[in-house]
Amino acid sequence: MSEDKLNQIKTKYAVVDAKNPDAQQMQIAADFIKDGKLVAFPTETVYGLGGNALDPTASERIYAAKGRPSDNPLIVHIAEFEDLLRVGKNVPREAKLLADAFWPGPLTMIVERNEVVPHETTGGLDTVAVRMPNHQVALELIRKSGCLIAAPSANTSGRPSPTEGKHVKEDLNGKIAMILDGGPVGIGIESTIIDLTEECPMVLRPGYITPAMLSKVIGKEVIIDPGIIAADDTRKPKAPGMKYKHYAPKGNLMLVEGDLESVIAEINRRTAEDKVAGKKTIVIATEETKNRYQADEILSIGEREKEEEIARHLYGILRECDTLGAQAIYSESFATPKMGQAIMNRLLKAAGHEVVQV
Ligand code: AMP
Ligand code: MG
Repeated sequence: MSEDKLNQIKTKYAVVDAKNPDAQQMQIAADFIKDGKLVAFPTETVYGLGGNALDPTASERIYAAKGRPSDNPLIVHIAEFEDLLRVGKNVPREAKLLADAFWPGPLTMIVERNEVVPHETTGGLDTVAVRMPNHQVALELIRKSGCLIAAPSANTSGRPSPTEGKHVKEDLNGKIAMILDGGPVGIGIESTIIDLTEECPMVLRPGYITPAMLSKVIGKEVIIDPGIIAADDTRKPKAPGMKYKHYAPKGNLMLVEGDLESVIAEINRRTAEDKVAGKKTIVIATEETKNRYQADEILSIGEREKEEEIARHLYGILRECDTLGAQAIYSESFATPKMGQAIMNRLLKAAGHEVVQV
């Protein structure tokens, strides 16, 4: 255990402008990172919990603060493309093409690990995950600290990823040196992860950047890890983090799929039963359907046609279920055209794959 025992740190909380963060606050944050301490910061996807990626002690502190299993590797955040070549080995040509197309942005690439990256950061793997975030606060923190920053999502392990500074505070206050609050994030779900270490590039975690977008840039087929779309758990996902039940609210969440009218009828039938059993019920609905339910609380995730809005609101809504003390939660399904795969991957995991078809 480090000298700053968990729960004994005074966490500094600084609200900063997302586009033009205060130089003094950024310097304080950068000094913490240089010093091996942890700072949570906004990115365009979700908030990250950062520490010096090349310092094994800083990585250990990240696992401890999150309560994260130590076999679940961290993503190394960089601000210059050249740093990919510093932390990675035998980096394939596709990496440059993808970086030119999508960096800074919500894409993480897995390449072979160079020895400068400690095993504490890669969860013991000989590969490393690297991303250049598209957020001024994140980029300035990397540049000002002079460090590469290992950063998983800034939530307690198992809880929904944070999309606002206050979510980070709920989970990590007293456990880390500083929280930089740059307001709500833009995308709201974690980066797409592509594995470039195999013959055929493979998406290990779906996100805003789809397999079709990746495939178009590198001119070859990009497959999706069969382990993450399997309805059962007979195939293990390749990204260690994808095997955990995750993003989950405390109440029992069930997804209901089918044509909309049947979904509404089924959810109303189930919430009525739950109410008789004395349970607090919540329905996750859309602007179009929010007035059609009789649950205790109805949370609208946005308009069904605006999938970016749905992605951005997802984790905040799952957290709200906890705040409201929901016991039985029902959600409509959001298999939207572009981000549907990423949204449904998170929702299915939050629901522990509990789905009813109607
Ligand atoms: P988070 O930063 O919390 O969004 O989690 C990072 C995700 O990236 C987890 O699902 C990890 O398992 C995955 N990951 C990180 N490094 C690797 C790697 N070298 N190989 C496969 N997956 C990785
Ligand atoms: Mg995470």
